[in-house]
Amino acid sequence: MANPLYDTLFGRHAGRDTPFLHLPDGSTLTHDAFLRMTARFAHRLTGLGLAPGDRLALQVEKSPEALAVYAACAQAGVVFLPLNTGYTGDEIAYFVENSGARLLICDGAREEALAPVAAKCGAQIGTLNADGSGSFSRGAADLSEEFATVTREADDLAAFLYTSGTTGRSKGAMLTQRNLLSNAETLADYWQFTDADTLLHALPIFHTHGLFVATNVTLVAGGALIFMPKFELDRMIAEMPRATALMGVPTFYTRLLSDDRFTADLTRHMRLFVSGSAPLLAETHVAFEERTGHKILERYGMTETNMNTSNPYDGERRAGTVGFPLPGVELKITDPASGDALPQGEIGQIEVRGPNVFKGYWQMPEKTAEELREDGFFITGDLGLIDADGYVSIVGRNKDLIISGGYNIYPKEIEVLLDDQPGVLESAVIGVPHPDFGETVVGVLVPKDGEGPDVDAISERITATLARYKHPRKIVVLDELPRNTMGKVQKNVLRDRFADLFT
Ligand code: ATP
Ligand code: MG
Repeated sequence: MANPLYDTLFGRHAGRDTPFLHLPDGSTLTHDAFLRMTARFAHRLTGLGLAPGDRLALQVEKSPEALAVYAACAQAGVVFLPLNTGYTGDEIAYFVENSGARLLICDGAREEALAPVAAKCGAQIGTLNADGSGSFSRGAADLSEEFATVTREADDLAAFLYTSGTTGRSKGAMLTQRNLLSNAETLADYWQFTDADTLLHALPIFHTHGLFVATNVTLVAGGALIFMPKFELDRMIAEMPRATALMGVPTFYTRLLSDDRFTADLTRHMRLFVSGSAPLLAETHVAFEERTGHKILERYGMTETNMNTSNPYDGERRAGTVGFPLPGVELKITDPASGDALPQGEIGQIEVRGPNVFKGYWQMPEKTAEELREDGFFITGDLGLIDADGYVSIVGRNKDLIISGGYNIYPKEIEVLLDDQPGVLESAVIGVPHPDFGETVVGVLVPKDGEGPDVDAISERITATLARYKHPRKIVVLDELPRNTMGKVQKNVLRDRFADLFT
């Protein structure tokens, strides 16, 4: 195959008048119309001097045109680097400079602010607005709708995806054509996607979940997307009857459940609800099934590897677990100190190997060497265990593990208890330096609207339930938890903030 990624995801839909994108204004873009736009964009890229292997950075609102830039990069052999719309000018400067992008495409409203950033890094700048207008698309308007697809090997880079920056500075993960394609094919098969599927797409397309999981899987299967700019409860409920599948982060599901219009009837012909990117509470899983009769299918992945595990399509979807390693993916639990495999049932670091695992971090050879073993196993930084039936559970991140007086403490165990207390909306448990114990436990609570939590009563109940070394030495109440642009809790920010509590 001349260009495995392009040919498999896009090329084979050429000439098909089947729906690909159902848009908010009620119109539909066919596969063929999308591919003709893609060809024009690919000509534009080569016209601007981008050669195979060059990087293109894109920070724009979600639109069909933005998706066509991704397809055009695949067709022209350009490495696609989508950026979170929440990033500031300084952050964009880091990504453009770090990646050596030759072209930065941004929203027209940001052009003035970002032009100096691009100029400083020697990148060209173009614009693409939410409605598809802008200098980049304008320059492509009259170009040919046929483009000779550039030949690529499976090992060639297809995308740079920066990690969410939950535990520190975002790292550029180098993903090859094989990484993306193997995962898309495996998931489409595992989750039984066909061309009869219509996926309700409300995720951003700058992150692995919305771009590579939701979009690539639908493309491989030849189905359609209901392409929504973002998650909006009213629109989700209005569109649900047209869809067959939804992929979302856990908050999608809690927000749907908070609305009485979300009923079993509304979801009657849906066949699949998938959750990932953050832990889905078992209680959400249970409440969802009670309301709709559907069991949410939880899976686990990350920027560096795409998806690693999934609950089964047929068979038991077990709440609180992320299911089994996907076909072709090996997963083991190892001792963080020695790297040796641990016996079944023990908690350790999760390592994965397979065609989905990335090539390394861009220009970070030491970091790559630390996390990517020579035998191909990637140390994910997550801690977990495999139960007697083979289901994988995640207990947290290695960096969040608390070691107090020589004991390992997993924050999640304490957070689950705190979340259940009256007046508590959510919680985060962290370790902070302590002169006697090395580290000790601090609980951070966010109150529910109106009800201030009774910290003393909570403290008493918690200490009655947990072994002494796990007791939070201090419980603090904050209005909200610090989160990054993906909505993930930044425990490093909390650790910094409370570092001096006991010292
Ligand atoms: P950074 O690596 O920059 O600190 P990040 O790890 O949050 O940021 P992503 O690649 O977007 O960046 O997120 C992957 C992480 O998300 C996983 O390592 C895991 O910790 C978490 N995650 C993904 N799916 C699940 C899930 N189903 N349950 C629990 N955690 C999950
Ligand atoms: Mg990570």
